[in-house]
This record gives sequence, C-alpha cells and structure tokens, in this order.
Amino acid sequence: VYNFAAGPATLPNEVITQIQDELPSLQGSGMSILEISHRSSMFDDIINAVQADLRDLMKIPDDYEVLFFQGGGTGQFAAVPMNLATDHHRIALLDSGHWAAKAGEEAKQLGYKVDTLATTKATHYDRLPALTMTMPDDTYDYLHICTNNTIEGTAYHELPKTNHVPLVADMSSNIMAQKYDVADFDLIFAGVQKNLGPAGVTIVIVKKSLIKEVDGIPSVFNYQLFAKKNSMPNTPPVFNIYATGLTLKWLKKVGGIDEMQARNQKKASLLYDFLDQSTLFNNPVKHQDRSLTNIPFMTGDAKLDLAVVDDLAAHGLMNLKGHRSVGGLRASLYNAMPFEGVQALVNELYRFEKEM
Ligand code: PLP
Repeated sequence: VYNFAAGPATLPNEVITQIQDELPSLQGSGMSILEISHRSSMFDDIINAVQADLRDLMKIPDDYEVLFFQGGGTGQFAAVPMNLATDHHRIALLDSGHWAAKAGEEAKQLGYKVDTLATTKATHYDRLPALTMTMPDDTYDYLHICTNNTIEGTAYHELPKTNHVPLVADMSSNIMAQKYDVADFDLIFAGVQKNLGPAGVTIVIVKKSLIKEVDGIPSVFNYQLFAKKNSMPNTPPVFNIYATGLTLKWLKKVGGIDEMQARNQKKASLLYDFLDQSTLFNNPVKHQDRSLTNIPFMTGDAKLDLAVVDDLAAHGLMNLKGHRSVGGLRASLYNAMPFEGVQALVNELYRFEKEM
C-alpha cells in the first residue's frame, strides 16, 4: 500500500520499524518512550539531538532559536502575531490559498490588523500572488507567506522581497522537502506531520533578535519562555519529539535536504509529465508555481474523479481524494513517499485513461 495522504502522512518504513522495536524499552532502560519523564537526562539527550540535527540539516544559523510547541500550524497562526506583532499590531499577508487566509483570519480575530497585499483567490489560487509594491518598512510587524500551499498545489521557489520587513513562513507542508535558506526568513514554523514525524509537535525557527518579553499572552505560546526553558516550560509531546528525531536521523542517512529535493523533483516530474500529456486528467496550476509535494488533478467530472479514487484505492494507492474546496484528486508526495509509489500511481492512472 502507498499512502498519498496530505497529512498526517506516510513516514519512512525504517522509522516505523525502529519505533516498534524500541517501544517496550528505550535504550535498554526497561521503560518506554511513552512513559519516561521529560525531566530525565534520557529525554534531554533526545530533544537536544533533535535540535542539533535540525540545525545541521537546515544549516540554521546560530542567531536563530529552534523551539518546539504543541498546537500545530494553527496554534502558530495565533502565536506568531502575539509574539511578533507588538510594534504596529499590523501584519501583511500574501493570500496564496486556504492556509494563508486562515492565518490572516486567526490574527484578525485576535485583534491584529491584517492587510492582504495580493491574492489569487479570483483564479482559484492556481498561481502565487505577486508582491508588486515596495513594502513600507514602518507599517508592518511582518509579512506572512505560506511556502507550500498544501491544498492548491503551489509553492514559492523564489521568495518575495520584503524590504527589511520580517518574513514569516508557514512551511508546514514542504519543510525539508525543498531547499530554502533559513537566513532568508525571520521566522519559519511547521507542524511535523507531513515530512518529519507524527502529528503533535510544531517546529518554530526564529531569529533571536525578534524574541522579546511580551505580557498577557498564553505561556504555551510564549517564545521567550520556550527559548529560556529549552521548549519545556511544561510537558512537551515526548513521543512525537522522539519520533521526529528518528526521521531526522533517517534524513541525514539518506543524504539530507539536497537528496530529498532531488528525489522530490524526480517524483513530481513523473506525475506532472503524465498529467501534462493526459487527455483525461489536468493539473490546473501555473507551471512555474507548481509544488513538489502536493499535486492536485482532476478530470472535470466530479463523479468520474470519485471513481478514479476508488479504483486507485482498490490497487493499494490510498487517500487520493482531493480537498473538498478543490475537488478532484490530490497526490501528496512527501519525503517518505518512494519513487515506486508515484510510478505505481502513474501506471494506474494511465491504465484507467486507456480503458475509458
Ligand atoms: N499550514 C499548512 C500549510 C497546512 O497544510 C496545514 C494543515 O494541513 C496547516 C497549516 C494547519 O496545521 P495544523 O493542522 O497542524 O494546525
């Protein structure tokens, strides 16, 4: 079976097997990772290794903190403005789809002003919005973008120019699947449940100079407190951090982000090439903005799309139904999806089309 779910998503087989092997007794301790204290030296070693491996893999400069939160990407839609929008209480947003818009809505309902500088909603987010204005540097606390639009299937391959305004990126669906330079951002956040681990931990990589004392915000979202307490002012998601750590070790072993990006390009090209020559299926996204990790496609006939989803599931190709806002099908090709899975998908789509 190949699992094409958008998230939580497929993890490397090696990681699942290692979790199974180590679950009853971690490192010969006679205790499970499910029951060890987060105040133990064993867990200190685990969380510190996860941080160090993240730094190593993403080449995170020393002037950035690496923090772990609960609450998912959605939690950070609230946490980022609470910690960063302290001067102007005003945020700029590029509306590239569902998740970028959600981030704006969350900030708005917390009382921050949100200016959508560009949107591609009118064309159903089939491309990225272009930032044509020069950002004024005394108006906004930051510009929010979503580097990969999980639902619509677009991704930033080039970043907008922010003219000294801090750049905040929701990297939930392409963290470590595509290479970015951390120094180009002021804050990156990502839930791990697509490319890095089981749902339950959210990574925040933030420039130290942006972390400040902020009164009146929940402790569980307080960047300064989390930086001071090594992300453990309260009980962290111990298992999820451990499992993420195993995936990071796997990533290092197979060649890191360069290798992942090369593999992901190869996987995505295989599917896009098929779709572009298909007379039945279509991917609506502008070529230069296409995502490597999430590929929506459709026949134009909703009933037929569902028949294709069922046919694929009958052949062990699972969770290919598109998001309800877009319809059709969607293949999520995250880091742990092998090339063979995409090959099997393309073969089956080809067969379906031929038999029509
Ligand atoms: N941002 C992006 C790009 C996503 O794809 C998702 C979920 O799929 C979210 C945010 C929301 O994340 P969470 O479910 O962890 O709150």
